[in-house]
Amino acid sequence: MKVIIVGAGIAGPVLALLLQHKGFEPVIYEAATSIAPGGSVQLSPQTFKVLNIVGLAERAIATGQAQESLEFRSHPSGRTLMAVDIPAMIRKEAGWPMCHAMRSRYVEFLVGAVRERGMRVEFGKKVVRTEQDGEKVKVAFEDGTEDEGDLLVGCDGMNSDVRALVFSPGKTYYTGIILIGGISRRHPSSLPPSILQVFGDGAHFLSAPLSSTEVGFQCVFPEPRASADNWRTVPLTNTHGKAMLAALPQARWAGGPARIISEATSAFRHAACLMDPLQSWHKGRIVLVGDAARPAAPHLGQGSNQAAEDAYHLVRLLCQPGHLPLSSSELETALAEYTALRVPHAKEVVASSISEGRLRVLSGPEKCRKRDEALGRSLQEGRWREVVSRMKGPFEGDKSEI
Ligand SMILES: Cc1cc2nc3c(=O)[nH]c(=O)nc-3n(C[C@H](O)[C@H](O)[C@H](O)COP(=O)(O)OP(=O)(O)OC[C@H]3O[C@@H](n4cnc5c(N)ncnc54)[C@H](O)[C@@H]3O)c2cc1C
Repeated sequence: MKVIIVGAGIAGPVLALLLQHKGFEPVIYEAATSIAPGGSVQLSPQTFKVLNIVGLAERAIATGQAQESLEFRSHPSGRTLMAVDIPAMIRKEAGWPMCHAMRSRYVEFLVGAVRERGMRVEFGKKVVRTEQDGEKVKVAFEDGTEDEGDLLVGCDGMNSDVRALVFSPGKTYYTGIILIGGISRRHPSSLPPSILQVFGDGAHFLSAPLSSTEVGFQCVFPEPRASADNWRTVPLTNTHGKAMLAALPQARWAGGPARIISEATSAFRHAACLMDPLQSWHKGRIVLVGDAARPAAPHLGQGSNQAAEDAYHLVRLLCQPGHLPLSSSELETALAEYTALRVPHAKEVVASSISEGRLRVLSGPEKCRKRDEALGRSLQEGRWREVVSRMKGPFEGDKSEI
């Protein structure tokens, strides 16, 4: 059964690996001509559990840095609000670590693994039209070529063309929050591995080591009138890029942020957006996975992990009849179950991301004081149990159903 996957970001290759493992014939078409740089992504146990099904978890971990500790600080006091080994707890409870990896390195690894296993990944293939009847689905590309398959999966990210072509997407809203970040040099003094979050008045800084020589960072702040940007790479070879980083409030924060920002080797800009939730993630032989289906959750670092969970559940449900190819009604049942499972889950993740985003741009001395108190207490209040349980993955222990 041939599956056309649109998008070679993170969801597309993970899905292709699982589908091939279960006897499907996936092919991936990617609009970009090469893998774009971006910043770093957080990979949590869900991702490794899913990749372990196809024997790739250890290699995926090696693309980044496993984290062992987490520190929350307050700016400008520099006071430590909380310093705990949450990542180590996550590893203990979920069986897999929490990592940070350079996004492009992780995507290169995934695309490489797909190709190693004999699947086709074609770059420079932007899908511009889709068509389907009861039996087949067709795609047309910007370059005038076409292809046909039994199922089409839109893994084409937050500005999904598949979503726009097939579904009636509601409006996309800019949330008023900007993320600017990148990759910087890591100093030996910042060992051992640790995630640092600094909460200021109306702004937030996060950094996490990506390797022994690199650290990823992300600055969040409100900007009411911003132009739409979706993980746009900002070259640091010109004055505009350098000025963008120098203008960040966090560029003057002592105790790590200022140095990390000043030594950045690459940068991106992202305007955090939300969209009206889709009621259904499938129509006929077309279905959405990852950011194409839900607004990204950049404040939780869950975009890539939710995409891996989507891919797992979609393949699990497609395998339920126990044979291939699936009849039209079997396909409809699988896709309807997938929608029923993932739509409510996505709402919860998006709601958590929105409240985390608000916390990061909270402003006013009194509100910040209360926030700092609450963050200091958060471990005792068991907030971290929720975080750990959210990252446990799409199945208990090693009980994968595919
Ligand atoms: C360039 C880039 C940089 C990013 N940087 C970060 C980051 O620093 N931190 C972070 O947390 N998240 C980042 N993200 C988002 C993160 O990758 C996603 O939130 C998450 O991993 C879910 O992955 P996805 O595969 O659903 O979407 P994405 O990773 O966005 O991948 C979607 C893919 O579909 C392709 N595509 C789009 N339209 C078409 C079309 N019509 N035809 C064919 N292909 C199409 C895109 O080029 C892209 O490669 C970035 C995304 C991109 C595209």
